Amino acid sequence: MTDTIKKVNVALGDRAYDIFVGPGLIANAGAYLKPLLRRNRVAIVTDETVGKLHLPALEKSLDANGIRHSAIKLPAGESTKSFAQLEKLTDWLLGEGIERGDLVIALGGGVIGDLTGFAASILRRGVDFAQIPTTLLSQVDSSVGGKTGINTRQGKNLAGAFHQPRLVLADTDALATLPMREFLAGYAEVVKYGLIGDRDFFEWLEVNLDRLKEGDVEARIHAIVKSCEAKAAIVAADEREGGVRALLNLGHTFGHALEAATGFSNRLVHGEGVSIGMALAFELSARLGFCTGQDAARVRQHLARAGLPSRLSDIEGPLPDADGLIALMGQDKKVVDGTLTFILARGIGDAFITRDVDPGRLRALLREREP
Ligand code: NAD
Ligand code: MG
Repeated sequence: MTDTIKKVNVALGDRAYDIFVGPGLIANAGAYLKPLLRRNRVAIVTDETVGKLHLPALEKSLDANGIRHSAIKLPAGESTKSFAQLEKLTDWLLGEGIERGDLVIALGGGVIGDLTGFAASILRRGVDFAQIPTTLLSQVDSSVGGKTGINTRQGKNLAGAFHQPRLVLADTDALATLPMREFLAGYAEVVKYGLIGDRDFFEWLEVNLDRLKEGDVEARIHAIVKSCEAKAAIVAADEREGGVRALLNLGHTFGHALEAATGFSNRLVHGEGVSIGMALAFELSARLGFCTGQDAARVRQHLARAGLPSRLSDIEGPLPDADGLIALMGQDKKVVDGTLTFILARGIGDAFITRDVDPGRLRALLREREP
């Protein structure tokens, strides 16, 4: 373990685990994984794209540590989070002879992490898994907190389980091959942590944005560690989303409506919806008198400068009208008894949960194409 590698502990009692962040972690994965193994054998789940780019380095490291391995490459993309792929994966793992005491490794983005974690949670009533997240989004978000699952005909993430990984290796080298649009989608979630509870971190992001985009390793490690710490603290306080964990949905109720309005297509990826959603949440907070207009403008400016969409008008093509968008917001799975929950803010770094938003003010906000 070199000095540059940082560690974040997710404090969940007997389900606690460590996230290591830094360069070269895939190339050294064998050494990190070995202490977790009951026998020298693992199964690796990845997708076609990541498999080509990063599986050889992982296999080499396992070989060097005398760990036997086999791998399955699933199609890349959200549609892999399906019952069909879950069945295929479960069959494969059983066929490979994976037993209760064995470890399954997820090498890839949030799609592979969510599917593999869910498969691990049901295989023989639960086997261990480790995550090697290769997108910024999966490093700062989906590999923290133990939510796993797949999509169903009715919607996203509707079948799943809480199943914590034993270990996470967030290799900053993997980000070198990630397309910029995917990097920025993850960056929206990074900004979110600053906006929820850490103004200093947001200000650090304002200063270091260019370094982060250019691939500065030290800056990227800092941003990933701060993000994982922020999410880990919230998850440790509320593992199953009974309270404060809802803060992590800042920008997401608006974002989901926009994703739904664009058909969950390439027109708008999740992080882009979240970006516009966070700008709208701050705009609404300012209009309702909770935060200053300056803070709302500053949030929007930062997202725009990063290269993320921050206004409804940044979305190309037609959108539903305000009532149509509000109806889509009502389909979010976080709706309880038909009431929308909003995450608003008293300022940058000071978000709060409320169910008390005047529908008229919301409609007015969404009626303008500019916000
Ligand atoms: P993804 O796994 O589909 O990865 C995005 C694309 O990038 C894919 O095409 C993938 O093949 C490619 N890719 C991955 N790593 C790469 C690399 N290093 N170089 C080049 N290409 C690479 O998507 P994602 O954005 O990582 O994750 C989105 C998923 O995560 C969604 O399904 C979402 O529901 C889920 N998610 C889960 C949680 C959670 O708490 N479990 C939280 C947030 C998001
Ligand atoms: Mg998200």
